[in-house]
Amino acid sequence: MINARGPFTPVGVSRSDERVGRAVAQALSGFFVMEELHELADRALARATGAEAGTVVHCTSSAITLSVAAAMTGESAERIAALPDTGGLPARVVLPAGHAVDYGHPLVQDIRLAGGTPVLSGSDSACTPEELEKDLAHPGTACLVLVSSRLTRGARAPLTDAVAAAHRRGVPAIIDGAAQDFRVGELLDTGADLVLVSGQKYLGGPTAGLVLGRAGAVRSVRAQGKGIGRAMKASKESIVGTLAALEARQELDVSAWARRQEDKVARFAARAAALPGLTAHPVPDPTGLPFPRAALRVDAARAGLDAPALADALRAGDPQIWLYTDRQDDGELSLELVPLSDEEVEVILSRMAEVLTEGSGVTR
Ligand SMILES: *Cc1c(COP(=O)(O)O)cnc(C)c1O
Repeated sequence: MINARGPFTPVGVSRSDERVGRAVAQALSGFFVMEELHELADRALARATGAEAGTVVHCTSSAITLSVAAAMTGESAERIAALPDTGGLPARVVLPAGHAVDYGHPLVQDIRLAGGTPVLSGSDSACTPEELEKDLAHPGTACLVLVSSRLTRGARAPLTDAVAAAHRRGVPAIIDGAAQDFRVGELLDTGADLVLVSGQKYLGGPTAGLVLGRAGAVRSVRAQGKGIGRAMKASKESIVGTLAALEARQELDVSAWARRQEDKVARFAARAAALPGLTAHPVPDPTGLPFPRAALRVDAARAGLDAPALADALRAGDPQIWLYTDRQDDGELSLELVPLSDEEVEVILSRMAEVLTEGSGVTR
């Protein structure tokens, strides 16, 4: 299959380069004192991101659960062992209603897994500062959870203001920025206690969740390894692979890389726009990631089929081609080309040409 749909978990998320593959293969055949390996990775994460501290857990979903757990228990061995039974601990976990995203399952379930009680602030269309303040002021509040993702709904409020509101009430703030590893510095600059990013999305490592932020909060996340975190541990190969992916990212000239992505999308859009019934143009990433996507508008009358039918035809081919279909009912499809080779981009263009020339009745 060809994945033009971004770091999408149902299709294998991302591609790792050979360096990551070799690191993972070597790690699998070795023994490690896991405590030492964790400490090495924790230091490397802090160095690479500028965070005070960092640690690796199984994935971002578990990073959310373990961060909520950490906010409730701190480093208390007894409390950690008792979870998800929270006893009398503060267990309310506030999040703006539009941040209660579904990335394949509901994020609020990550909170409930730790024993927390999700409290949705405001409505799907907006969460005002007053609404958030009121919910944060409630006694028994363990933490605030915020999400930086294309999936959030409603008006985008500045994360920095929400973090500051939590801190005024003495409530720690956690940001789920799973696919935002390119923007991790910006997310840390909000003052959040913990920022969570995925090791396997744009970073291109094996499945891992990177937990970054204040030293005390990160220690409390690591301490969950003796509790519910056992079921969410980072494996030796994922830690070693994550380190290799971090090294590769540090060596990457991000602005030169971003220019290559822009060229790739511009060339693709110019050629797609020449197909019958299509207009195409680059669109910036809505969350501010440093690369555009290609947006296609399908004129059903001229193309002979509408956007959903084009997406279906591409997916039904061999190889299958998957693209973003969230706006297909408005006549728009979009493609992310970041991980794709030139050959794969050619395959997409020639499949689109085949489907559209059949649909439009234009002879080639
Ligand atoms: C992908 C994603 C997750 C889950 O990440 P995993 O590493 O697959 O557990 C969580 N939150 C958001 C916003 C995501 O996009």
